[in-house]
Amino acid sequence: MLFDWGDTLFHAPHAPEVISSYAAERGVKVTDAEARGLWDELWAAGKTPEEIAKGRDLSPDAHRRVWTALFARADRVAPGLSRALYERVMDPNSWVPFADTPRVLRALRERGLRIGVVSNVPAVLRPVFAKHGLERFVDSFTHSFEVGAEKPDPAIFLAAARSLRLRPEEILMVGDHAVDAGAERAGMRVFILPERFEDDVRGLDQVVGMTE
Ligand SMILES: [Mg+2]
Repeated sequence: MLFDWGDTLFHAPHAPEVISSYAAERGVKVTDAEARGLWDELWAAGKTPEEIAKGRDLSPDAHRRVWTALFARADRVAPGLSRALYERVMDPNSWVPFADTPRVLRALRERGLRIGVVSNVPAVLRPVFAKHGLERFVDSFTHSFEVGAEKPDPAIFLAAARSLRLRPEEILMVGDHAVDAGAERAGMRVFILPERFEDDVRGLDQVVGMTE
């Protein structure tokens, strides 16, 4: 089984808090609802085809340039907020697993499945999983910046299949976004998680049922 990383296994629930605390340090009052609204707006903008087409996950430099430009609209709230958001939220080390991530990875491992993570990301993810004791459940990590291709390009999914020593038709790709469906063109089956979920439970349990 292959998993996307961002918004599938891990998320950044601290982002609105970064906005309100940064603003407060500069004497600007931002309510929790306003911070949440601003973050949701920025994050949704970052998931549009136009932004994804900018190649931001092919190198750390491109990542910083593209995301900082997108976050610039946050500077209207407090000057410098765009940079704070980039440094405190876009660092993968600041992301945390969803509540159901550990138990689902463990359940899949107990069933003898090989597990890979395939991500559009400019950094190595194994230490991020290790920080939460989850690296033992993952056989391989495939990062866009190392492969030189980003999802939905089939090339990155095929690289992930090779790293697991599996044929594409033996793999289920689990993700949260249309880019993850690119795995179909690589010959894999795909499951896209519902956009909505309760609190910090992503709804990954249903993936375990799919292995029956
Ligand atoms: Mg994702």
